[in-house]
Amino acid sequence: MQFTETNNRYLIRLEKGEEIIKSLTAFCSQNTIKSGELWAIGAVLSAEIGFYHLDKKNYSFKQFNTPHEIASLIGNVALVDGKPFLHIHTVLADENFACVGGHLKEATVGATCEVYLTNLDTEINRKFDEEIGLKLLDCKAIP
Ligand code: ZN
Repeated sequence: MQFTETNNRYLIRLEKGEEIIKSLTAFCSQNTIKSGELWAIGAVLSAEIGFYHLDKKNYSFKQFNTPHEIASLIGNVALVDGKPFLHIHTVLADENFACVGGHLKEATVGATCEVYLTNLDTEINRKFDEEIGLKLLDCKAIP
């Protein structure tokens, strides 16, 4: 990983073989990022993405073990139990230009992954919502 910072914004280059969620979560911990937004482009060697069934309150996950372009990757950072938690969605394109997309569980970087991350410089937490079955953003910032 390489990165540079300017005015609470980071440009991060993840290297081939790095796991995206794991690497970015560690980066947020190391840089004390308690809320943020991010987007990225690049490519993956493999990825696991999910779809949330609101009626059953669980995810279906599917693993892809072939290279894909990261046509889009977008997400946010908030705290769960005091630690940075990344919520990321993505659209991935294969060599035939067919796209799949969903909630990103994990992905291994291929050629590169170019991430722009903005630190919102406040504390935002996620709280469990009984009706939805997920830890949702609690948008009341803690100054
Ligand atoms: Zn999601």
